[in-house]
Amino acid sequence: MTESATPVSGSDLSQYRVKGEIPVPSLIIWLTLGAIPLLSFFALRAYFRAETDTFYALIAAATLLSLNAVVYLVSRRDTLLRRGFIVLITILFLYLASAAIEDGAAIMWLFAYPPIIFYISEARVGVIACSGGLLAVVLLFSPLGDMIFENPYSISFRIVMVAAFTFEMVSCYVLDQSRRRSKLGLLKLASEFEYAAKHDALTGLANRREGHVQLDIEYERYRRSDRPFSVLLIDIDLFKQINDRYGHLAGDKMIVLVASTLREQCRKIDTVARWGGEEFLVILPETGGREACNSANRIREAVAAAHIEFEGKLLSATISVGAAEVQQGESMDRLLQRADEALYQAKTSGRNAVFQSGVALVGFGSGLA
Ligand code: GH3
Ligand code: MG
Ligand code: MG
Repeated sequence: MTESATPVSGSDLSQYRVKGEIPVPSLIIWLTLGAIPLLSFFALRAYFRAETDTFYALIAAATLLSLNAVVYLVSRRDTLLRRGFIVLITILFLYLASAAIEDGAAIMWLFAYPPIIFYISEARVGVIACSGGLLAVVLLFSPLGDMIFENPYSISFRIVMVAAFTFEMVSCYVLDQSRRRSKLGLLKLASEFEYAAKHDALTGLANRREGHVQLDIEYERYRRSDRPFSVLLIDIDLFKQINDRYGHLAGDKMIVLVASTLREQCRKIDTVARWGGEEFLVILPETGGREACNSANRIREAVAAAHIEFEGKLLSATISVGAAEVQQGESMDRLLQRADEALYQAKTSGRNAVFQSGVALVGFGSGLA
């Protein structure tokens, strides 16, 4: 039977794409491409200012970021690229903050860290990385930091920096949560639309369009494997009388009953579709005509034995079935036409019957309900 809507999980949304969204690997590659000239520029400045350690550190950072991107372009492993990038930029930003590069001004680059980390990783990782970064800055600006590093920062700068960095991180977190919620909402909406486009609202069965799609898929499978499949066209007998006698609500209940009986009687691999008002199509993969007729008879008997309760009365109905096994080289339209002809024979023979295309009567009920 056809799948129901795929549930969208909120924990890792990066596996789902929304139109217009930049994919994380592309963003990392672009960020790497942007970082290389910047790192080279500041490395060159460090070289001319005779800050050799900084020069080598920045060149090493540019080289490792490039390598990370090249490994991705060869292996196409998204997670490796993302993890490598997070580790490298975390080390780089910590270095920029602690080594007082460009007379301490390079610490400003720390503001680029929260938006990047929240975009490219899960919210949990973003919170951990940013809290760690804030802790590192507080430590750097503490008396202990002054003992370890040569801090050129004034007290005012330290206070403003910690306050502004905290403010930015909280803002990034709130905006990221809002972005994730919007994305989840869009994905859920898309999955609901997809479900509605493929299913019939009354019965929950595949609709006619989805029936055609499944038929094409089955036909392709048959052409590859050469194992035949069959279809059943099913129509509720004298259904108009149920509507006329008991009203449309009773008719709807009867359609739902037949649909659920079909679902119960069919295998998981079968497709059951609502083909029209009170008509159904069943696709039976890897099933020959004889087997299909056995299934059709079982379904016919199950429908005849079932009933609905309506305004204190028990109502039952019967079905007529036209079965057809796919034949070499025939089109799907022709297969459906043969099933329809068999259904017509079942109707003209007195209803509550199963007819197979090209074969005489294969199953008959004990009378109309
Ligand atoms: P036969 O045994 O020859 O198939 O007779 P029938 O009365 O079932 O055939 P017919 O095609 O004349 O009637 C089908 C009726 O199904 C006509 C239509 O009003 C009704 N119908 C179609 N869709 C729905 C639906 O969704 N709900 C209800 N209640 N009735 C529907
Ligand atoms: Mg009909
Ligand atoms: Mg009918």
